[in-house]
Amino acid sequence: MTGLVVQSELNAKLATGLLLNEPMHKHTSWHIGGPAEYFIEPKDTAIFKKCILLAKELALPLTIIGKGTNLLVLDSGIPGLVLKLGPGFKDIKIIDTQITVGAGALLPTVAQTALQHNLAGFAWVAGIPGSIGGAVVMNAGAHGCCISEIIQSVKIINEQGQIFDLAKEQLFFGYRTSILKDDRSRWVVEATFNCWSDQRQTLAKQMKQYLAKRRQVQPQGYPNAGSVFKNPSGESAGKLIELAGCKGIKVGQAQVSEIHANWIVNLGNATAKDVITLINIIKNKVKEKFNITLQLEVRVLG
Ligand SMILES: Cc1cc2nc3c(=O)[nH]c(=O)nc-3n(C[C@H](O)[C@H](O)[C@H](O)COP(=O)(O)OP(=O)(O)OC[C@H]3O[C@@H](n4cnc5c(N)ncnc54)[C@H](O)[C@@H]3O)c2cc1C
Repeated sequence: MTGLVVQSELNAKLATGLLLNEPMHKHTSWHIGGPAEYFIEPKDTAIFKKCILLAKELALPLTIIGKGTNLLVLDSGIPGLVLKLGPGFKDIKIIDTQITVGAGALLPTVAQTALQHNLAGFAWVAGIPGSIGGAVVMNAGAHGCCISEIIQSVKIINEQGQIFDLAKEQLFFGYRTSILKDDRSRWVVEATFNCWSDQRQTLAKQMKQYLAKRRQVQPQGYPNAGSVFKNPSGESAGKLIELAGCKGIKVGQAQVSEIHANWIVNLGNATAKDVITLINIIKNKVKEKFNITLQLEVRVLG
């Protein structure tokens, strides 16, 4: 099927916000990435489902993203259809101590909402800029906590457009991973979390401390994607990278942060190629010095 036929099919059947060759640097926290061939921000689950079914019908590769804070999109861009789950998926419902949140809701907003309702469990996510969908898939974590610890279940949509719940045990969470991470046929629509009651003052204090700690140890001011590598078992990737002499190394406009060696910052117009070259330099130097092979935490798309 030609690009024009695909485009007119998508336009005719979706009649909503289809963008062609949308620059992905506009949708990633690194401000890096070539164009998505077709790009839509579905405004609700019905449109999301329609897009999934159409992608299958038109044999288009399908990629779902959230806030793009854990992504390296290649300079050549992403073939097929990219769906970004944003404001159409930001509902937050609270029943007693249970919070149900749309995949597109942002973690800091969820943390603030939990705080307003005197609910504990989310204080540590306040400084993570991603969405609930991305956090569930990646099993986001910080300060000794991770999202899987509070998950009860996740509402999934599959490539047939069927919507169903998966219980926490069915998601096989691990360190920065879940069964959904490399699954290209099931995606997160919303998630339900078990919180517990606590005093607002106590929660507010905890949140403030977590945010202050981040400000202390994390680079501010340049676009980035948080930690680039996972921590090897019992080790800190940042420490290994620093000891391997990588702090401050630059390739093009990408630089290993002077403040936190596990972060690569975009000094201006860094390309994905710059970042990948830097990633390979870091991996080689750490391997040479410690015989440890670092694994990427960020997801490479394209
Ligand atoms: C300044 C900064 C600080 C950070 N601090 C932390 C931290 O402390 N701890 C931590 O764990 N991470 C951290 N991160 C990384 C990132 O914010 C988290 O991993 C976040 O949960 C990713 O969410 P996202 O919406 O940005 O996902 P994206 O980057 O958009 O996507 C990440 C992955 O999830 C998939 N995905 C996204 N949404 C869905 C969905 N609805 N269904 C199925 N798949 C989906 C994507 O295809 C991709 O593979 C940080 C990033 C930055 C920039």
